[in-house]
Amino acid sequence: MSATPALPEQGLSWLLAREGEIGFRVSAARAAQRAWALVPVAERAERLAKAGDALISRMDEIVAVIREENGKREVEALGHEVGGAVGAVRWTCANAPRLLAAEAAPVTWLPHRKPVIERVPLGVCVVISPWNFPVSIPLGQIVAGLVAGNAVLLKPSEWSPRCGALVVDLFRDCGLPADLLQLVQGDGRVGAALIDAKPEKVFFTGSLVTGRKVMAACAQFPIPVSLELGGIDALIVCDDADLELASSAALWGATMNGGQVCASVERILVDERVVDAFMGRLRAKAERLDPSDVGPCSMPLQSKVWERHLADANKRGLNVAKYGAVSLIDGPGVEASDVYRDETFGPIAAIATFRGDDDAARLHNDTDFGLTASVFSADVDRAERLAKRLDAGLVSINDVAATMHAFAELPWGGKGSSGFGRSHGEDGLREFTMPRVIDRPRGGIPGFKRPWWYPYDGDQVELIRAFVTIVGDRHTGRRVRSAGKLLTAFASMMRRSPRL
Ligand code: NAD
Repeated sequence: MSATPALPEQGLSWLLAREGEIGFRVSAARAAQRAWALVPVAERAERLAKAGDALISRMDEIVAVIREENGKREVEALGHEVGGAVGAVRWTCANAPRLLAAEAAPVTWLPHRKPVIERVPLGVCVVISPWNFPVSIPLGQIVAGLVAGNAVLLKPSEWSPRCGALVVDLFRDCGLPADLLQLVQGDGRVGAALIDAKPEKVFFTGSLVTGRKVMAACAQFPIPVSLELGGIDALIVCDDADLELASSAALWGATMNGGQVCASVERILVDERVVDAFMGRLRAKAERLDPSDVGPCSMPLQSKVWERHLADANKRGLNVAKYGAVSLIDGPGVEASDVYRDETFGPIAAIATFRGDDDAARLHNDTDFGLTASVFSADVDRAERLAKRLDAGLVSINDVAATMHAFAELPWGGKGSSGFGRSHGEDGLREFTMPRVIDRPRGGIPGFKRPWWYPYDGDQVELIRAFVTIVGDRHTGRRVRSAGKLLTAFASMMRRSPRL
C-alpha cells in the first residue's frame, strides 16, 4: 500500500494565500496549461487513464483514508467513491476524444464559407469541493477539466484535506506537466482567494449559502461558475406502488451516508390512500435497521442544522418520532416546516400526503430546490408521465438515488436553489470548454469583395431582399422568382463600381 500524502498545515496555507502564494500558483498553472492545450485530446485521455489504474490498485488505501476522515461505511466508500471515481475516469477518457472533436457547422447564409466549431479549454479551472464525497466529486471534475485541456486547482473541503491530497496524488503517474494539477488546502478564505486570483472557471460543489457567495465573487470579473448545490429529494409513493419496495427505498435513500448526500430523500410524499400501509412498513423497517449501518454525522457543524430543524418541527407541534437512527416527521402543516423546505443533510425525513398525480406534482414542485426525485408506481408509464412534470434534474422510477452522482454517463445537476451547470456526461465535459468557431473559406472559391460591403445602393437592397426570400420564404414560386432578381441585381452591381 502506498503512503498517504502528508496533510498540509492549514494555517500555513492561509498565510501563504494572503502573501500572494495563490496568485503565483494560478500563474504557474496558466503557463503549464498553454503547453497542455497543445497535446491532442486522445493523448491527454490516454495519460489520464492511469488515474483510473491508481484508483483500482490503491482501492484499499483510498477506502481507509475516506473512512478515517469522515466515517463513511466501507460499502459506501467502495461503491460511491472508488466506484464512482473510476467510472468517471473510464467514461471520460473513452469519450472525450469524440465529444471534444471539432465539428463542421455549415451556415445556409454563407455557402462560400466552411465554419468549424472547436471545443477549446478555458484555461485555469478552480474546483472547490465538499466533504461528503471527498474523492468521487473532485476526481470526476478534475478528469473532465484536464482532458478538456485545462489546468486544475483543487481546493478540497477543510473537513476532508487528506482525501483531497490523495485525489491529487492519484494523478502522479499520469505524466502531467508540473503545476498543471495543484492542491490548495484551506478553508473558505482560501476558496475566496482562489476566485480573487481570476481563474477562467470556478466549479463549485457545496451548500446554497456558500454557493451564493461564490457566485457573487465570480460576478465581479466575471468568471463563469458552475454551482452544484443542495437538494431536498422527494420520494413519491403513488397509490398503486409496491409498498415493500418503496418503504425499503425510502429508508435507504434517507439514511445512506448518514443522510449526508445532496440526493438524500428528505421528503416522502405518499398518496393518502396508502399512507397508513406505507408508514407501517417504513417504521417497522426503521426500527430493525442497525444504526451502525447509517454512519455518523461526519461534520460536527451539520448536527446543529439537524437540531434546529427538529426544534422547529417540535415548535410547530408536528409528530417527531425517532425509529433507531432515523427521525420521521409528519402532521398537519409539515409542508411549512424547515425540515420539509430546507436541506437537513441528515437521517431525518418529512412525510406529507397527496391525492392523485396532479396533487403529487404540485406538492413536489412547491420548493426552491430541484436536484433529484423518485416516483414509485406499479405502472411505469404513469410514473414516467409524473416524472416529466417534476422540477428536478434527475428522476428515478421505482428506484432511489439510482442516478446518483456515481454515474459518469449521466448529466448531474439541478435547478433553482440546487444550482446550475452539470457534471458528468457530455454536458459535464463541456462545462470545461468554450466553443470556438473557426470560419474558413470553402476551397475553390476565389476571393471577391462581398456584395454587402460598401457602398450601400439600390442594387444591393434588391440583392439582399431576394436572398432573404430564397433562404426564408416557404412559398416555392416566390423563391424561384427571387432567384432571377438576385442574379439581375448581382450582375448590375458587378458592372458598376467594385466594392470598397
Ligand atoms: P460548504 O458550502 O460549507 O463548503 C463547500 C466548499 O466551499 C468547501 O471546500 C469550503 O471550504 C468552500 N468555501 C466556503 N466558503 C467559501 C467561499 N467564501 N468562497 C469559496 N469557497 C468557499 O459545503 P459542505 O458542507 O462542504 O458540503 C455540503 C453541501 O454540499 C450540502 O449542501 C450538499 O447538498 C452539497 N453538495 C451538493 C452536491 C451536488 O452535486 N449538487 C454534492 C455534494 C454535496
